[in-house]
Amino acid sequence: MTSSSATTHLPDALGQPARDFLSSSHGLLIGGEARAAADHREFESLDPATGRVIARVPHASSEDVDAAVAAARTAFAEGSPWRSMSPLDRGRRIAALAELLDSHAQELAEIESLDNGKPVKFARHVDLAGAVAHLHYFAGWPTKIEGHTIPVAAANMHCYTRKEPIGVCAQIIPWNFPLLMAVWKVAPALAAGATIVLKPAEQTPMSALRLGQLALEAGIPEGVLNVLTGDGETGAALVEHPDVDKISFTGSTAVGREIGAKAGRALKRVTLELGGKSPNIILPDADIKRAVQGSFTGIYFNSGQSCNAASRLFVHKDQYDEVVGALAEQARATIPGPGLDPQTFVGPLISAEQHERVRGYIDAGRAEAELVAGGSSDLGKGGYFTEPTLFATTDDDAKIVREEIFGPVLVAQSYDSVEEVAQRANAGAYGLAAGVWTRDVSNAHRLAALLRAGSVYINTWSASDPAAPFGGVKASGVGREHGHDGLDAYLETKTVWTAL
Ligand code: NAP
Ligand code: MG
Repeated sequence: MTSSSATTHLPDALGQPARDFLSSSHGLLIGGEARAAADHREFESLDPATGRVIARVPHASSEDVDAAVAAARTAFAEGSPWRSMSPLDRGRRIAALAELLDSHAQELAEIESLDNGKPVKFARHVDLAGAVAHLHYFAGWPTKIEGHTIPVAAANMHCYTRKEPIGVCAQIIPWNFPLLMAVWKVAPALAAGATIVLKPAEQTPMSALRLGQLALEAGIPEGVLNVLTGDGETGAALVEHPDVDKISFTGSTAVGREIGAKAGRALKRVTLELGGKSPNIILPDADIKRAVQGSFTGIYFNSGQSCNAASRLFVHKDQYDEVVGALAEQARATIPGPGLDPQTFVGPLISAEQHERVRGYIDAGRAEAELVAGGSSDLGKGGYFTEPTLFATTDDDAKIVREEIFGPVLVAQSYDSVEEVAQRANAGAYGLAAGVWTRDVSNAHRLAALLRAGSVYINTWSASDPAAPFGGVKASGVGREHGHDGLDAYLETKTVWTAL
């Protein structure tokens, strides 16, 4: 089923454009040029459905970080093509990048599906569609970045504010939605007029490299978007670089804490989108069929590897057996498969490491909860597959109830009253998202106010729009992406006083 060059394997299902890109030689993108790592190190990117190598990419060291930050600084200098460009033209280039992503959507979706494991139809209709929409939305912002005239008390004084781009931004991306997460950061930074060094996750470096090529093609000047493929050490060198003004990170809470601490010491601006253990609450008056469907997709979409996965389910005791039974039936009927297979709903996990990590949680779950469905992570197909898994427990202190698993594992619990469920849902460490299924408008909005989370979904899960803020409270992070808030994260306010 595979054709191979020296040691890379690309499946037959791959279209020609994705094949051409993956089998080309890959360089770091620094100052508009593709180059090998300074020390010529490389690493491999794998297909999680087979564990086979799909491409080899440079492994950026701190020397490459220095070069990329210097290129971003040069591109940000007063009088540079980027800084001299009118806001209208900046918006046009961002729109051109949106159009290029759209016209290469199938190619990019295949690259993403092969590198990450996700079903190609979702890569196309969720990741790519979302990335294109995001760029189009932010393409409209440059011409609307306005300061204010401030009515100060002093007589004969003119006071106004300017909104200025924040400078050189380090953007560090996870592997779960590689291109979409990159675009969530790149689009507002470009709109603000900042410059970027982007570091994709080592498991999924390919789509960011293609994004960098398309940005140049869209007329975004050299050095504005630099791309460094590498690992955690590359990321750390970027975070610690003294000439980086702002860090934007999406990933684990553990690494987020470390980056936050470093940013605090260096007084760099920082945005952190971290993990979650998001409570999903089905009230007794909910449309149960719809709630079951939404809860199923809420956890198992992207193999549970979503920061806002609906991973902790609360069902009222009167509907508990019915809901858990329906979810179990659907979970058992869902057979994981490779992302490039059009039938697949649940693809493999990202890596051997993540597969092992999730297996560890499933083992812990077997010891502390009742396994209702799934549980196997050895499907005899090779690759990092894990069955959609469902546990039930009454123990709020169980490890699988408290910790983020980041796999296709749902934990169901019953409750008695709205006050009780709100209190239990809020007791966790995280606060990224929460959901409520109900036909009662008062309970819906009462819970929306009570739940401590950055987003609350009512009768839906994971609704998203480039204009609607997204981010977390507590251990789920600091700051917001999307919309006004997302743009503001790349702007500084300068106050100008003039004595008249
Ligand atoms: P991670 O270590 O937090 O990785 C996220 C990004 O940060 C990657 O680009 C990573 O590079 C980079 N990185 C790692 N260590 C760094 C450091 N010290 N300084 C700067 N950058 C650093 O996440 P992971 O290990 O891939 O996944 C572990 C767990 O994180 C998952 O099981 C899940 O619970 C959580 N996670 C959450 C999200 C989310 O959307 N909130 C996304 C992914 C993972 P390399 O990957 O190249 O090493
Ligand atoms: Mg890969």
